[in-house]
Amino acid sequence: MASIPEMFGSMVFNDTVMQSRLPKDTYQALQRTMQNGRHLDPAVAAVVAGAMKDWAIEQGATHYTHWFQPMTGIAAEKHDSFISPAPDGKVIMEFSGKELIKGEADASSFPSGGLRATFEARGYTAWDPTSYAFIKDNTLCIPTAFCSYGGEALDKKTPLLRSMEAISKQALRVVKLFGHEDVTMVRSTVGPEQEYFLIDKAMYDRRKDLINTGRTLFGAKPSKGQELDDHYYGTIKTRVAAYMRDLDEELWKLGVLAKTEHNEAAPAQHEMAPIFTTTNIAADHNQLTMELMKKVAERHDLVCLLHEKPFAGVNGSGKHNNWSLSTDTGANLLEPGDTPHENAQFLLFLCAVIKAVDDYQDMLRVSIASAGNDHRLGAQEAPPAVVSIFLGDELTAILESIENDTAYDAKEKVQMKVGVHTLPRFPKDTTDRNRTSPFAFTGNKFEFRMLGSSQPVSEPNVVLNTAVAGVLDDFATELEGAEDFHAALQTLIRRVIKEHKRIIFNGNGYDDAWLAEAEKRGLLNLPTTADCLPCYILPKNIALFEKYGVYSEAEMRARYDIYLTNYAKVLHIEACTMLSMTRKDIVPAAIRYGRELADAIVSKKAAIRGINCKVEERLLSNIQAHTAALVEALDKLDAHVQTVDTMNADGQTRANFYRDAIIPAMETLRAEADALEMLVAKDLWPLPSYGDILFSVR
Ligand code: ADP
Ligand code: MG
Repeated sequence: MASIPEMFGSMVFNDTVMQSRLPKDTYQALQRTMQNGRHLDPAVAAVVAGAMKDWAIEQGATHYTHWFQPMTGIAAEKHDSFISPAPDGKVIMEFSGKELIKGEADASSFPSGGLRATFEARGYTAWDPTSYAFIKDNTLCIPTAFCSYGGEALDKKTPLLRSMEAISKQALRVVKLFGHEDVTMVRSTVGPEQEYFLIDKAMYDRRKDLINTGRTLFGAKPSKGQELDDHYYGTIKTRVAAYMRDLDEELWKLGVLAKTEHNEAAPAQHEMAPIFTTTNIAADHNQLTMELMKKVAERHDLVCLLHEKPFAGVNGSGKHNNWSLSTDTGANLLEPGDTPHENAQFLLFLCAVIKAVDDYQDMLRVSIASAGNDHRLGAQEAPPAVVSIFLGDELTAILESIENDTAYDAKEKVQMKVGVHTLPRFPKDTTDRNRTSPFAFTGNKFEFRMLGSSQPVSEPNVVLNTAVAGVLDDFATELEGAEDFHAALQTLIRRVIKEHKRIIFNGNGYDDAWLAEAEKRGLLNLPTTADCLPCYILPKNIALFEKYGVYSEAEMRARYDIYLTNYAKVLHIEACTMLSMTRKDIVPAAIRYGRELADAIVSKKAAIRGINCKVEERLLSNIQAHTAALVEALDKLDAHVQTVDTMNADGQTRANFYRDAIIPAMETLRAEADALEMLVAKDLWPLPSYGDILFSVR
């Protein structure tokens, strides 16, 4: 077996490969494109394509594909082989510069939210040269952005690249104010921690709900769950360890910096954390990670569940989006420095994030909204649906002292003055203790913890980058015109703290009292996806994204439309799956068990005249009552599904109907089914139980 350094990136057309395979001037031209976003010369592209093809064929590739991230949330690929006919009836392997840079894809089968006019079904994919090409399944994959004929984004990557440009431009203005003339680019960086469940394939195959929807729609609480807290960081079981090893290797080959693997809080739940990297690459890598997690699981007769809430009553899965900003000279802009000057800069960037999160709470909330994530947010395990920032007591005290001109160190009576004082170092354990916060400062980065496990990281980072860019723009404008820079800085920071401190909350986010307090502070609480999707079309939000060229108004309306439709579709599939499972599996099981009980009563009475059958009779009438309630709930859900199927209404009205009628009907149906599961004999119950599934992997 190859050593890890040899294996790492072996399937990636990375910098080392480029340096050794490209002529020097081609390499330099490509570097300029990668680093400064310069336009790529077609002549250069032709040389790169040739080298890429030769390299790929040596690694066993036969095909190539533009690899992109349409609005479906999963990566798309269309494979073309390298072959091209040669005169003598043979073939040669070809790949042109044009094929590298631009591809044509039929856009009509991807959600476009009305952006793609029917007469123009073509969509284009364009190479993102800042993300390396790689080989997967004997196919050379070229990371690309996906746009309509008119240039509107049809994917998740295009806006992400635009937002990275926006934040770089504005952050650059701010660092220049602090005298860093050598900085030419600021990158947003992301390290997404990915949670997942791993279950036995044999169990999965017996659950239509898992197969159709990725989550269990029925299932009584197991007698042993996570009460004992014996899974978190627990010893990793043999099959799981083999899986993790295999997964790491596959990820390393693709250059994904998989670093940490451990058990999570719930039984069968695990986590993988990579080392952080530039945001668009992190987004591509997370997409690959999710794909490989599923694929590698198959090889081990396991199934990897990425759904946010596969099991009711058991912790769900999220994705922690660690985010920061760093300069091309290697400085992390969210890291408190060693000098008062550095700290002034840190405080300004910190305040920019605070203001951005407060002003665009709604956009952050909607950027992580999905039917799946609705089960998590606010369910005593994930952050609540209310966005707030955790800063830790020390940093909060410092901000208070700046705001009020009071001492932050009670003993020493030190007053914090921006640009005069050095901040204390915040050790990781004092900043990271609060696990309940949706948006936590963790010493040198922010951790956005509301993301669902199955969602691509692009969208939340588009919002973060753009909102912070907008604030940095205003800050830079204010400070560039100031006569006394430090006085203006002190005034600005003080004003931002005063105006936006309502978003800071260091307490327990799982506490109901917080929701009441948040409401008093005027923070938004949008519990469901249907509630928050209209944020996409609020004028203030459209204005922000248009200003920085990240989304046009049409693109935002399209996204609103796509997500409304997606929400309705997911719930429709769930409701229909429930109806079918109830009819075909659950009702028959209840009836069979009822008959068994009835037979038992009859035969017992025949055997011994006058015998007492109280137990069987009580069970039978219990089964009877729950089955009747089950069928009633079934009819009600069925009626609602028919109503929505024939409803002539706009997307929002339909989404609201799913939220207000269908979801509650599903819950009622489930409650009756779960009650029956507790009553019916195990050999008659058609579905593997939660206990069977969660403890299936040894
Ligand atoms: P944990 O949150 O589990 O305590 P760490 O704080 O060490 O673990 O890191 C969590 C994640 O944060 C990792 O994926 C790491 O790569 C990422 N991370 C660390 N520094 C940065 C940064 N500057 N920008 C973005 N992500 C970062
Ligand atoms: Mg973390």
